[in-house]
Amino acid sequence: MLDLLNIYQKLLDHYGTRDWWPAESPFEVVIGAILTQNTNWNNVEKAMTNLRQADALTVDAIMNLTLAELEQLIRPSGFFRQKAERLHLFCRYLLDQYQGDLKYLFDQDLNLVRNELLKLKGIGPETADSMLLYAGQRPSFVVDAYTNRLFGRLGVLSGKEKYTTVRDLFMSHLPEDIQLYNEYHALIVIHCKDFCRKRPLCNNCPCVDICLYKQQNC
Ligand code: SF4
Repeated sequence: MLDLLNIYQKLLDHYGTRDWWPAESPFEVVIGAILTQNTNWNNVEKAMTNLRQADALTVDAIMNLTLAELEQLIRPSGFFRQKAERLHLFCRYLLDQYQGDLKYLFDQDLNLVRNELLKLKGIGPETADSMLLYAGQRPSFVVDAYTNRLFGRLGVLSGKEKYTTVRDLFMSHLPEDIQLYNEYHALIVIHCKDFCRKRPLCNNCPCVDICLYKQQNC
């Protein structure tokens, strides 16, 4: 049987808990999940700092900004016009449907709220699952390019699976545990930055004894 818990334990033993997501409130997580699309976290932090300094980290404050003003504040995150529009649309939706309160949004049935999020412009499955898991504290596993790279090399994935297939694989082989999903995704990210890079650094990797790529390439 596929032992995703064994891989998780190896990563956890090596890195320890990561305590994600780096944000001060669920609303900041939601904003960060949109801003982090197609960029690295350093750029998101610069945009978040601008928003914080402008006192613009609330739904109302974002809606009180013009699109042009919002674009300038989030410019460091890249694709700032698209992202400003997405932030406005998300906040408009939250105000219209949930009185501006994330709690009302996330308190619904998981599949229902996930499907709703996926209908919003610019919210794909990775962004929706990041919002659900890290802002909503709901058990929705987050899949990203790092997940595909690492588990492809370990021999768990072929690399051709769709997002939904990978998410279902994790969710059907792991206990439904929010903290586990939270840590697992964070551990995958740190591991792919530290060892399993595009050009992997296999020496001293905590997964070396179970890695198909290592067996086939060394
Ligand atoms: S052994 Fe190399 S390829 Fe395998 S998981 Fe570790 S870093 Fe990645």
